Amino acid sequence: MHETQSNCCYCGVGCGVIIESDGTQVTGVRGDPAHPANFGKLCSKGSNLHLTAQPVLQQQVRALYPEMRTARDQDRERVDWETCLESMADKFATCIQAHGADSVGFYISGQLLTEDYYVFNKLAKGLIGTNNIDSNSRLCMSSTVAGYKQSLGADAPPCSYEDIELADLIFIAGSNTAYAHPILYRRIEQARENNPHLKVVVVDPRRTDTAREADLHLAILPGTDVALFHGMLHLCLWEDLIDTAFIAAHTEGFAELKQTVRDFTPAFTAQICGIAEKDLIQAARWFGLSKAALSLYCQGLNQSSAGTAKNSALINLHLATGQIGKPGAGPFSLTGQPNAMGGREVGGMANLLSAHRDLSNPEHRAEVAALWNIPSVPDQPGKTAVELFEAVRTGEIKIIWIVCTNPAQSMPDQNLIRAALEKAELVIVQEAYRNTATVAYADILLPASTWSEKSGTVTNSERRISRVRAAIAAPGEAHHDWQIATKFAQILAKKLNKTQPDFSYTNPETIWDEHRDSTAGRDLDITGLSYSLLEEKGPQQWPYPADAKAGQQRLYENHQFATSNGKARFINCAYVATTEKITPRHPFALNTGRLRDQWHGMSRTGLVAQLYAHAPEPCIEMTAQDMQRRFIQDGDFVEVSNQRGTQILIAKASDQLKAGQSFIAMHWGEEFVSGTLHSDDGISKTLFGVNSLCNPAFDPISKQPELKHSAVKITKLEFA
Ligand code: SF4
Repeated sequence: MHETQSNCCYCGVGCGVIIESDGTQVTGVRGDPAHPANFGKLCSKGSNLHLTAQPVLQQQVRALYPEMRTARDQDRERVDWETCLESMADKFATCIQAHGADSVGFYISGQLLTEDYYVFNKLAKGLIGTNNIDSNSRLCMSSTVAGYKQSLGADAPPCSYEDIELADLIFIAGSNTAYAHPILYRRIEQARENNPHLKVVVVDPRRTDTAREADLHLAILPGTDVALFHGMLHLCLWEDLIDTAFIAAHTEGFAELKQTVRDFTPAFTAQICGIAEKDLIQAARWFGLSKAALSLYCQGLNQSSAGTAKNSALINLHLATGQIGKPGAGPFSLTGQPNAMGGREVGGMANLLSAHRDLSNPEHRAEVAALWNIPSVPDQPGKTAVELFEAVRTGEIKIIWIVCTNPAQSMPDQNLIRAALEKAELVIVQEAYRNTATVAYADILLPASTWSEKSGTVTNSERRISRVRAAIAAPGEAHHDWQIATKFAQILAKKLNKTQPDFSYTNPETIWDEHRDSTAGRDLDITGLSYSLLEEKGPQQWPYPADAKAGQQRLYENHQFATSNGKARFINCAYVATTEKITPRHPFALNTGRLRDQWHGMSRTGLVAQLYAHAPEPCIEMTAQDMQRRFIQDGDFVEVSNQRGTQILIAKASDQLKAGQSFIAMHWGEEFVSGTLHSDDGISKTLFGVNSLCNPAFDPISKQPELKHSAVKITKLEFA
């Protein structure tokens, strides 16, 4: 038996795993006791990873060979790699020469490894000359990025997992940690056992399993987080719980914010948020009086049309109380995907450049152009996720290359996405799995390797970089993502008549070395972090400069922030309600989120029978009282609809919600829902998963869509 140290490929906790294999097949998986994220533990998803790699399943669902079609009404046919990449490069060159570089676009994924991300970013921005490359991390962490940069000057989570054990208040906002980051939640449970004085507060409209176990649950109305944080700051000011010395020495902008939060009296805030005044007061006192307050937050703050403001308002609370840059304290975002952080580090998004540089900064563009040995990086802002597909729909972007993600399920407003995929002149899908809704739109399908087959690095939520290692070969003719991008770049370079950056990568380490060189002098300096050092010392946190002996566990301990003057900034953000309002026509608020045992669109976890035990089928949850009023019983089919789409789902009474609220898990796509209904009357054509109902409105700064709140109508379906 062979044993290979690697990482779990699901969430941003980034647990280490040991892959057991016979050299050709994965036979088992267990937690890596040496990995500091999980110390040998795995959740239900991670501990079943080996079952997703069974040969019988691989044959059924894997993309094994390149496939192409020459017309939309034809089926794709198997082709060899050379023919496929040559044809793609011809189409790219023709399109770019006729319509300009911005007529093509890339939509990539936080599940790619850092090296994959780096090459795709260089292909788009360095070779082709377009910034039209965005990632599904736009749906996940872009509000966090904007929040950190606005307030602290850099996209750098300042805390470590170890702070969970050092905090005396854990303030969880917009995160069902027990389901979405289970191994971290176990650390919280353990910390509570070890420290009876530790308090846990959960802010969530739903009474999730995380909220149920908390010392205090603030079940705020959807989208009212900024009001809550302003109200807590108002109370901290009123009760003299702020750190005036810290504010004076290390921050700026407090006077303006003070004026804003003055209006957020307890009565006013409690009314906006729909919570009891006494609970608000309790939360503010615990926050202000705690020795070390650690906030853990995720999509409840991020997936919002006010996502950046929500992040900033929470960071304001930390700055005002001095709860940052010390053990057990700080605003700590939990990343959703396994390598959303790595993607940000290499600048693999429409507004970013390598090593946390900004596309809008001329000096940063010049630095990257010099690193890549090209005359310039284009200054035209790239299209972010929703904008990208809108541009495809209007014909502005004619070729879209989708890598390791499933927008035909995961993006909001599926009518827009599917219209875009139908309108595109060429849709390229690079995927390990054929069982995603997006593959159906592929004119060209490029088979990619996946977990247990590929090598590189990932960065988890606490800035810890781990090596991902291949245990077995990829099946069929599947190639690694970086290899596909590299080979394509080499072919396209010959067809485009301009100065070309270097694409002579021969393995992931050559890409890594170029990436780490690009970080010299930046906030995330990892110039000391070679593959050999990672082999020797194991996973490490950044920054890790060339002369470092270890990575940095906690940032800002010297209270020097990454802003130009070293001071953190209070952001005077306004409270703005959700963009979509509840109306008599659409009287229910719809929230979406994760199940404990499924991941994203279920292309991988959906293959494992054991992972259906917790939630066997899709449903819509609502209160028993709301169901009663509509003569709906548990198990009845209901139609859930709004102006964007319709879902047919089983209704289920829930005690986690308030009147007028509903919840649908994000994982189930069209195939399963239509399979449930066994409908042959055409209804299934309108069922694209819950995101068909979701609002594409996005945050003005982060451009992250409001996946967490839409208004819907729910009607009982009567079958004759
Ligand atoms: Fe994988 Fe996340 Fe579970 Fe860890 S907590 S095993 S990274 S899914």
